[in-house]
Amino acid sequence: MDAGVTQTDLAMMARAIGLARAAAEQGEVPIGAVVYETDTGRVLGEGANTRERLRDPCGHAELIAIRAAAEALGDWRLNDCSLAVTLEPCPMCAGAIVNARLGRVLYGADDPKAGAVRSLFNLLGDERLNHRCVVIPGVEQAACAAMLTGFFRLLRERKSFTTKDTESTERNE
Ligand SMILES: [Zn+2]
Repeated sequence: MDAGVTQTDLAMMARAIGLARAAAEQGEVPIGAVVYETDTGRVLGEGANTRERLRDPCGHAELIAIRAAAEALGDWRLNDCSLAVTLEPCPMCAGAIVNARLGRVLYGADDPKAGAVRSLFNLLGDERLNHRCVVIPGVEQAACAAMLTGFFRLLRERKSFTTKDTESTERNE
């Protein structure tokens, strides 16, 4: 089985990174995902985090992209498709990947706190489940990781700024 990264894969990861960046501008954790036909590179579905905007705990980029792809294809089976996502999928999304029978998964940064592909669990390679897919970690890893650390750094800076603001207000009262 070919586990190599193609030009199409790289283009799709770039697309996922673009979706993640756009989400960050809306105050979402920057995670983006694209589902495409492995052979043709036709994009079937894409998504970014919508958790904050829609207050949806299931609003993960992968779930949105997978749902859109199944609808576009008219089939819940995505065997001939690949998923490119900027962060290692969580248990919920890895579960959806198994249920969708996705053929390949490429991701950027590892997620030591929630990753269910190799960091905490290995749901996509677990032989007790009825589906396994080709997994390629670390695609554009540096760019994906930098995007996340940059986002959280900014969030912390804003928080400490707000705290200082509050403190000075309290002092003035
Ligand atoms: Zn997830």
